[in-house]
Amino acid sequence: MSDLTQLGVRAIRDGVAGGEFSAREVAEACNAAVAEAGALNAFIVTTPERALEAADRADSARSAGETLGPLAGVPIGMKDLFATRGVQTTAASHILEGFVPQYESTVSQRLWDAGAGMLGKLNLDQFAMGSSNETSYFGNVSSPWRRAGSNAALAPGGSSGGSSAAIAARLCPAATGTDTGGSIRQPAAITGICGIKPTYGRCSRWGIVAFASSLDQAGAMARSVEDCAIMLEAMAGFDPKDSTSIDMPVPGWTKALDASLAGKRVGIPREYRMDGTDAAIVASWDQGIAWLKDAGAEIVDISLPHTNYALPAYYIIAPAEASSNLARYDGVRYGLRDLPAGANLQDMYAATRAAGFGEEVKRRVLIGTYVLSAGYYDAYYTQAMKVRTLVARDFIDAWARCDVILAPSTPNAAFALGEKLADPLAMYLNDVFSVPASLAGLPAMSVPAGLDEAGLPLGLQLIGQPFDEQGVLDAALAIEQRAGFTAKPERWW
Ligand code: GLN
Repeated sequence: MSDLTQLGVRAIRDGVAGGEFSAREVAEACNAAVAEAGALNAFIVTTPERALEAADRADSARSAGETLGPLAGVPIGMKDLFATRGVQTTAASHILEGFVPQYESTVSQRLWDAGAGMLGKLNLDQFAMGSSNETSYFGNVSSPWRRAGSNAALAPGGSSGGSSAAIAARLCPAATGTDTGGSIRQPAAITGICGIKPTYGRCSRWGIVAFASSLDQAGAMARSVEDCAIMLEAMAGFDPKDSTSIDMPVPGWTKALDASLAGKRVGIPREYRMDGTDAAIVASWDQGIAWLKDAGAEIVDISLPHTNYALPAYYIIAPAEASSNLARYDGVRYGLRDLPAGANLQDMYAATRAAGFGEEVKRRVLIGTYVLSAGYYDAYYTQAMKVRTLVARDFIDAWARCDVILAPSTPNAAFALGEKLADPLAMYLNDVFSVPASLAGLPAMSVPAGLDEAGLPLGLQLIGQPFDEQGVLDAALAIEQRAGFTAKPERWW
């Protein structure tokens, strides 16, 4: 039989439904691939039995002639930021090591209800803070990709680096991600897969470990646009348990997919032509413009004048919210407790947080606490919130001239592990193209566009109007069809 790990979501689902192979065979193949890929360190915990249970349920439902869910028989990876009942949930931190939730996040529950099975909990940057998956307490993830002629280990992107590595390495056909400032799009781009972050509020945040609540959104990662659409359709939907969840029906994105862009206007933001962007990225962006023209779109030059201020504003707002959200990890309620002999309550807080948080998390808590402190609140936080409004307004103005925006996903292809770790600003700059859409709460997606001269994947980003995930998916599909991206990493693990 052909190698089932090479199949995507749609092919697995249809193959199981059509009796070409059983869901159990798929789960076994993926469990084996996961077990053999320890060198990638993509998973913090594996749950082969959960994948098998879901597969057996799908197989018996099929033999009983029952209607199968849209993800019946599809084993997936779950970013370890989603609370999973009975399975350790750590946000890749020491402070939550050993935390086993008594409840299930809304998004993961929806995926199980759709028939998916869980292969395990995927590694990530600690509390989703990072762009390289190097801030995880459980060690970095290695990208399955390598530069041609080099054995140097590359970053899989972050924070959803376990998700991107596992999908690119064919350990799973799809996974969940979360995106606060780019954590779905950036890892997807540099590992040659697709990733979509929906409009803020489409997916419930309930049961997702909070980083920056006004920005956090769950989304889907997979190897094709259609597979992302199938995943996202299962994940999205109103949830009364999240006060920012949007009470709107989830459209049938998958069925409506249409790569013909006749009558559509695609905006090209001139401020995204930034110094320091790799020549290969600029070339692939120009190629993307030509592809969308070929798909029937009209290309229009647009301006997003506050683009330059988005990144600094993000790196005030996100840490501010993080410092507040992470106050709950105090050694009292969950996870780690460090109670030195004779210590009082304050000592326990300090010792627990000192031992439980990594360097990057501490940096964010310190920055966030500082910008929210009485003397600096207006100078930093209020100012950043004003900038956020201006960035959002730029997009509102742009929508008068275009329906969807095409931009690079990242300023560079994958970088080496360790390359940017010592310089937080260099790391933060990786988000320069993804953060504006996050501040504005817009749907955005990265789709593979080709390889650079070292043989590393490059992604293109589509940004859409609020609730127009369809427009984003359609334009991404037009690129996917023309890019014909079939490259995969050569196996070394
Ligand atoms: N890399 C960005 C950061 O470190 C974005 C992270 C994310 O989207 N979770 O904040």
